[in-house]
Amino acid sequence: MVGNNKCAYKIPYTKNSNDALGLASKGSVSVIKKQVAVIGAGASGLFFGYSFVKENHDLVIIDHMNGPGKKLRLCGGGQCNLTHAGSIKDFLPMYYEKGKAIRKLLYKYSNQLMMDDLQKNGLPLVCRQDGKVFPKAMSSDAVINFLVAAIQRGGGQLVYDQQLTDITVMDSSCLSKGHNNNSSFRYCLSFQSGMEVHCNFIVLGCGGRTFTQTGSDASILNVLSMYNQIKFTKCRQGLAPIYTDQFPFKDLAGVVIDPVTCQVLDKEGRVLGTETGPLLFNGRCFSGPCILHLSRFARDGYTLKINYLSATRVKDPSSWAKTAAMEMNQSKKSLASFGQDKYKLPRSFLKIMEMLFPTPSQFATNLVSHKLTITNANNFKTGMITCGGIDLDCLNLNTMEIKGMDGVYAIGELVDVDGKSGGYNLQWAFSSGFAAANSINSVLSKL
Ligand SMILES: Cc1cc2nc3c(=O)[nH]c(=O)nc-3n(C[C@H](O)[C@H](O)[C@H](O)COP(=O)(O)OP(=O)(O)OC[C@H]3O[C@@H](n4cnc5c(N)ncnc54)[C@H](O)[C@@H]3O)c2cc1C
Repeated sequence: MVGNNKCAYKIPYTKNSNDALGLASKGSVSVIKKQVAVIGAGASGLFFGYSFVKENHDLVIIDHMNGPGKKLRLCGGGQCNLTHAGSIKDFLPMYYEKGKAIRKLLYKYSNQLMMDDLQKNGLPLVCRQDGKVFPKAMSSDAVINFLVAAIQRGGGQLVYDQQLTDITVMDSSCLSKGHNNNSSFRYCLSFQSGMEVHCNFIVLGCGGRTFTQTGSDASILNVLSMYNQIKFTKCRQGLAPIYTDQFPFKDLAGVVIDPVTCQVLDKEGRVLGTETGPLLFNGRCFSGPCILHLSRFARDGYTLKINYLSATRVKDPSSWAKTAAMEMNQSKKSLASFGQDKYKLPRSFLKIMEMLFPTPSQFATNLVSHKLTITNANNFKTGMITCGGIDLDCLNLNTMEIKGMDGVYAIGELVDVDGKSGGYNLQWAFSSGFAAANSINSVLSKL
C-alpha cells in the first residue's frame, strides 16, 4: 500500500540518528521491533504511553514533528486545562450527541481517575473556582515533561521527525499462534525516511486537522483510506469564532455580553444548535464560549441568531419585542438608554444597535432576535479542534480497537468525538488513551 509521501518536516534520517536511537538495521533499512507502536506524541499518544508503561515497556511512540505535544503545549493558553472537576455524569452533554455512546468508557476512565492518577504519580493539580482543573505549575510544559519522563522511565521510546507512509500486515496470525518472542510480528509500519517499525499493536493518536502547524494535519488519512474497515464521518472545525457577512461591532473588541442565547439555523430555518453563555466581540467576528460551542454547526450561508438578553431573561422573544417596543414608544428616553437602564447592556453596544435599528420595533426585535448570515465557516483555519473523524460505529467503545483490525486502536481527536471547552477534549484524550492501554496490557498479560 502506498501512503502519503509528503514530509513537511525534512530532517534527514541518517545512520548516525539510527545509532543514537539504538535501532536495528535490516540492510540499509532501520527497523524498530516493539510490541506496541503509537503514531502521534500528542495528548492522547502520551496519555496512552504513560498508562501502558505501568505494566509493559515494549513501546515506541513516533511523531512527524520534532518533539512531543505541540498542540498540548498551547492548551489553556499554555496553562493546560486538563479536565473539569465534578460528577462525570455532567460530562456527557459536553460531548453533544456523542456523550451517550462514550458514556461507559468515560465512567470507567473518569475525570476523578485522571486527577487521582496524575496526582498520585507526581503531577500536582489545582481546581479553579469554575471547576477547571490545571497542573499546579499552571504550565503545559509541566504536563508534557511529566508524561514523557514517565514513559521513558518505564522503558518506552520516543522517535521524532518520522512520517508514516504505509501500514502492511506481515503475519496476521502470529499472536493467536501464541508467538510473543519478537520473532514474528503482525504489522509493519513504513516511514518516509525508510525506517520500519515491526509491531503487534498499533495505536493511532494522530489528532484532527486544525492547527496544522502543531502536526495535527490529517496526513494519516492518506494511509488509513486504504482500509475499508475504517469509515470517517465528515470533518469540520469546532471551537471556532463565527464570522458573518456583516459585522457592525468592529469597535467593540473585547466587550463581553453575558449571558446571551445564540442559535445556528440551516438554510431551511431549522435550529441546529442552541447555546447560552458569554458572547465576546473580538474585532472581526463573534467569539466567547457561547459562540465557540455553537461553531460546530456553522456553515457558510447558515444563520446565526442572537438573543442579547438571553433565553433566561426572555423566553418568548416575539411577544417580548412587541411589549418592549410599546414601552420604548411611550418612554422619552433614547432606545440605547432604555436598553442600558432596564437591561444593563453595554452602552457602546446599544448605540450601535440603535444606529442599525432606529425604530422601537426594529430595535426591540433585534435585541432578542438578531439574524446574521454566517461566512468563512467551511474551512479548518480558525477552529481549535476537529469535529468528525473515525466513525464510532467502527470502534469497540470499551477498548478503542478498530473492528475488523485486530490490534489496531484509534484514540483522541482522530475519533469522531468533540468536546466543549473546559478540559473536555483532554479528558477524552486521556479516557480513550487509558482504555486502549488497558486493553493491550490485558491481551499481553494473557500471552
Ligand atoms: C489553542 C488550543 C487550546 C486548547 N486548549 C485546550 C484545553 O485547555 N483543554 C482541553 O481539554 N483541550 C484543549 N484543546 C484541544 C486539545 O489540544 C486536543 O483535543 C488534544 O490535543 C487532542 O489530542 P490528540 O492526541 O488526539 O491530538 P494532538 O494533540 O493533535 O496530537 C496528534 C499528534 O500526532 C502527530 N501526527 C499526526 N499525523 C501523523 C503522522 N502521519 N505521522 C506521525 N505523527 C503524526 C502530530 O504531530 C501530533 O503530535 C486546545 C486546542 C488548541 C488548538
